[in-house]
Amino acid sequence: MKNFDYRDNELCCEGVRIEEIAKKVGTPLYLYSQKALVDNYKAFDKAFKEIDHLICYSCKVNSNLSICKVLKEEGAGADVVSGGELYKALKVGVDPKKIVFSGVGKTREEIKYALKNNILMLNVESILELELTDEIAGRLKKKAPVALRINPDIDPNTHPHISTGLAKSKFGIEISRAKEGYKKAKELENIEVLGIHMHIGSQITELEPFVNSLGKIVELIKELEKERIRLKYLDIGGGLGISYKKGEKAPTPKEFAERLLPLIKELKCKIILEPGRAIVGDAGILVTKVLYVKKTEEKSFVIVDAAMNDLIRPSLYNAYHEIIPIKKLRTLPRGPRVPSGREANSPSGISSPLGTRGELSLGDLESPRDERRTTVDVVGPVCESGDYFAKDRELAEVKSGDLLAILDAGAYGFSMSSNYNARPKVAEILVEKDKFCIIRKRENYEDLIRGEQEE
Ligand SMILES: *Cc1c(COP(=O)(O)O)cnc(C)c1O
Repeated sequence: MKNFDYRDNELCCEGVRIEEIAKKVGTPLYLYSQKALVDNYKAFDKAFKEIDHLICYSCKVNSNLSICKVLKEEGAGADVVSGGELYKALKVGVDPKKIVFSGVGKTREEIKYALKNNILMLNVESILELELTDEIAGRLKKKAPVALRINPDIDPNTHPHISTGLAKSKFGIEISRAKEGYKKAKELENIEVLGIHMHIGSQITELEPFVNSLGKIVELIKELEKERIRLKYLDIGGGLGISYKKGEKAPTPKEFAERLLPLIKELKCKIILEPGRAIVGDAGILVTKVLYVKKTEEKSFVIVDAAMNDLIRPSLYNAYHEIIPIKKLRTLPRGPRVPSGREANSPSGISSPLGTRGELSLGDLESPRDERRTTVDVVGPVCESGDYFAKDRELAEVKSGDLLAILDAGAYGFSMSSNYNARPKVAEILVEKDKFCIIRKRENYEDLIRGEQEE
């Protein structure tokens, strides 16, 4: 995790002790490192520096205004998928000429809103949407700038819920009907055909699916040129995965660019990229407090104050997130083995007579908490069995009041959170060097009833 590390056994974000933030702001909380965000953005920018490109940060991944603003200041545009995201991007001052709008179900109002604000282009996902866009543009006496989102029918080998470029998926126009779509677009009076778009899925950790899809798209661009349809923009979407698990490999933006550049270098198109997860994923963590450690005959449960409504990825995709303590127990020097019954449970085989945390029980004396690792389920308080962050996970033993960090939670974390179980949404904090700033207030009970009416 970039910019999150232990100092004196305490987890810090850049120059700030996370425990200190938790004490001031309470838990749960999302915490982001500004430096990590900027570094990730710059890595993409640098990787594609040899060609004309625009990075449109995918706002749905984390649309907090401060996060969008940090990236905008670095020069990023925005990839939006709803009128609400377009509103937020405009609100932080993203140049409309750097905004692209995707989505299979754009409403009449959303299309109108986008056209009125003169965004760079609408990534149109069906012929019907193309016709509706033409009609709306006509009424506004404008030409609608569009790209067609083409579905290349490639399996990205990711979770089915986040796979978007297969023939059976709802996204885009089938590649077999692409030419027909472009011819139609060219005929329509109020449409200006600017580009081509693909986005094949998310959390893709192999480069082949990108290479194969892009290959198909480049071939299509060349065929279109023969028909005198010349495109100014090639939008290759997002989807680059990150490593959530130790040992799991994900390509870097540099590796990603090195494989794709040979395919696109010769084209006369400006390249648009729409990374999301690869920019904010490892820049954020979810900090949560242990409420109870509950042992049943079958299992041990670490019950924390965050829940599936705050971070739904484990429940939704069975996603893995590393979980680590905010305060590491003292790492003890390898000492002589102390023979005890408990020692068999200690995988490291090291033992010491004293724990570091006071509150010693007999058990602690036999095998200090430092060394004891247990296999637990980390779960939230929501009334659903699917409310968990980890199952059968080996963790250092914790007790009530301990703080834990759920790592790599910056992407699809807060943005997918809800008020389920009437739980107020958590606070979000941005760290810059040795300062931290609350970029979203924790909600209170009043917030929960805003807009509701008692009849
Ligand atoms: C979600 C989405 C992205 C971002 O995907 P990541 O996997 O987070 O990089 C980019 N483009 C479109 C159209 C999307 O829907």
